[in-house]
Amino acid sequence: MATGKIIKALSGFYYVLHEGEIYQCRGRGNFRKKKVSPLVGDMVEFKADNREEGYILSIEERKNEFVRPPIANVDQALIVTSATRPDFNALLLDRFLVLVEAKRIEPIIVISKMDRLDEDQVKEMQHYETMYGEIGYPVILSAVNDPEAMDLIQSHLADRTTVIAGQSGVGKSSLLNSIDSRLSIDTDEISESLGRGKHTTRHVELYEISNGLVADTPGFSSLEFADLELEQLPECFPEFVAVQDGCKFRGCLHHKEPKCAVKMEVEAGNISSQRYHHYLQFLEEIQNRKPRY
Ligand code: ZN
Repeated sequence: MATGKIIKALSGFYYVLHEGEIYQCRGRGNFRKKKVSPLVGDMVEFKADNREEGYILSIEERKNEFVRPPIANVDQALIVTSATRPDFNALLLDRFLVLVEAKRIEPIIVISKMDRLDEDQVKEMQHYETMYGEIGYPVILSAVNDPEAMDLIQSHLADRTTVIAGQSGVGKSSLLNSIDSRLSIDTDEISESLGRGKHTTRHVELYEISNGLVADTPGFSSLEFADLELEQLPECFPEFVAVQDGCKFRGCLHHKEPKCAVKMEVEAGNISSQRYHHYLQFLEEIQNRKPRY
């Protein structure tokens, strides 16, 4: 018996990576009865006499899981956002950050196309780099063929399972192509269909890149806060969490409550008012969500 990680699921087979070798396995019959289905990213116990005929015996508890794409145990998300064409969109970036935080995934922010900016625009991006950096998020300002940025990105990939996120047209393809050509094509194809409500079912595969595993499918097929409860939203803003003990009320939503530490920090300029306004926008969006049955 051995432990490994599922890196691909296809036609009823699971491909388990164990000490650098891949084992083709089937799920045990009773998974179906228990309504448990192994996912790419799962850590599993398996038994295999050779590399073609293995059996998955059990699945370890998951740290997180996605339905679309079907993947489990993601450590981090590389959120790619462009500095220009399309313009840098802080609201969209904050939306991605909330989705990532809600899944307990660590974000890494990559701002692409830095080579296409004038001096003022560069200063603006450096302001964001500082702002998000102070929250605790790694920020990488990048351009295609910028070896320093590529080295930085690759250094983040080691020993972790990573998904890529970001709207289409932000330069994911060319960026990923410079990391590893196996990643580049599929990611943008899928995100193109994002806004059109298509639910593309396709297989997910984890590729070994820079001593880590990277999914070839974007991490978020929907940008709605469908699974997020109102009370969870403040937890998705680390700079709010850092001061929330100072709020008068437990479970403070930092909105209309009096003596709110978050609002005080916003007024004092210690928390970005832009982030706070995005928070209020998301709060309203969740409050106005149609009830689900
Ligand atoms: Zn508060």
